[in-house]
Amino acid sequence: MTVDRESFIKSKFREFYESSSSMVEAPPSIEMREFGFLLFKDRVMVRHKGFRDVESLRSFLRQIVPLHAYYSAAYYAAPEEPMERKGWVGADLYFDIDADHIPTPCQKVHDVWVCRGCGFKGRGTPPERCPLCSQRRFEEKTWPCEVCLEAAKRETMKLVDILLKDFGFSQDEIKVSFSGHRGYHVHIEKDEIKDLDSAARKEIVDYITGTGLDAKFHGLEAAGEGSRVLVGPHLGDSGWRGRIARGVYDLLLKADGEHLEELGLRRNVVKTIVENREVIIRSWESGGPWGLIRGVGLESWKAIIRKGVEAQAAKIDTVVTTDIHRLIRLENTLHGKTGLLKVGFPTDKIEDFDPFKDAVAFKRGEVTVFIEEAPEFRIWEETYGPFKGEKAELPVAAALLLLCKGMAEVAQ
Ligand SMILES: [Zn+2]
Ligand SMILES: [Zn+2]
Repeated sequence: MTVDRESFIKSKFREFYESSSSMVEAPPSIEMREFGFLLFKDRVMVRHKGFRDVESLRSFLRQIVPLHAYYSAAYYAAPEEPMERKGWVGADLYFDIDADHIPTPCQKVHDVWVCRGCGFKGRGTPPERCPLCSQRRFEEKTWPCEVCLEAAKRETMKLVDILLKDFGFSQDEIKVSFSGHRGYHVHIEKDEIKDLDSAARKEIVDYITGTGLDAKFHGLEAAGEGSRVLVGPHLGDSGWRGRIARGVYDLLLKADGEHLEELGLRRNVVKTIVENREVIIRSWESGGPWGLIRGVGLESWKAIIRKGVEAQAAKIDTVVTTDIHRLIRLENTLHGKTGLLKVGFPTDKIEDFDPFKDAVAFKRGEVTVFIEEAPEFRIWEETYGPFKGEKAELPVAAALLLLCKGMAEVAQ
């Protein structure tokens, strides 16, 4: 990063923390949390910081102006001590949904990787090994694209639905936030979940991702002893029963023959399903299609169900939830990769949340930048780019996004 770019970003981040650090609120039991900050200078991580009150946290932010600011989902007896002497007391339940874990067709267009060994470049997700020098280390440049963020939002909505309906958390116990980059966080601070260990959290993860789910424990069975007729879950059933039924319903409603063959179904099974689609769809009103069609047996249904479960499960980053020492980005602080804010909002506002409007931190001023290459993007109602090797005068928020992404330089 050139000095100009770095110092411009830092000056803007400083302006923000000087005027808006009062937006940063203390997490509950602030005195039991560990804080961590990634500094501009040499990208050093300062960890094991503790604060007694929110004012000292805010003044620290104004003083150091971090590129990223984090706090622990965990509560510790002594948060400033080294890890082994902190005294873990409990942790909030955290979920991370990141576009990196959701396959979208546009990733091949806007994401770039560079081999750290030889500099070989490619688009999309990096391969296991570099095709030229077979090293495994890559620098990845991902883009907070609207399509990818919308996909992450859909996953977040599925997760919140599971937490509300299957786990019984209430709306106001579930906190949702935009990460400031490529995803969303969902977070629960209730006493009942605080002392769950990693293994218990793994079970929650498995439930949400539908891992190891077998439909035979969710109502898919023979209609009677020795019967070849199947019965199965209904659309309105609660828990995974209903989710299985709805997943299968959606799949049968939309999938064409080609999609069904990809599930590994035999050709005559696919033909039977496609020919009877109308009958199958109508049959849900009277309990579902499970036993309806001759020639679609248990194994075929299982393959269809697997796909239906995949569509109903929420694609969370499983590691974040099971890590009981995780550092989490602090709300209302800036994301160093975008200059956007991490912001929270109520669960019933997810649908309407617009990251390129609601997470914009810099609302005034313009700056001229030289843009190497950047895809088209939007800030508020205005779209910018695509750019290639050109100068442009942009609002500060738009320019910062490109500068933070390393796609532009401040023009002289
Ligand atoms: Zn290489
Ligand atoms: Zn995308």
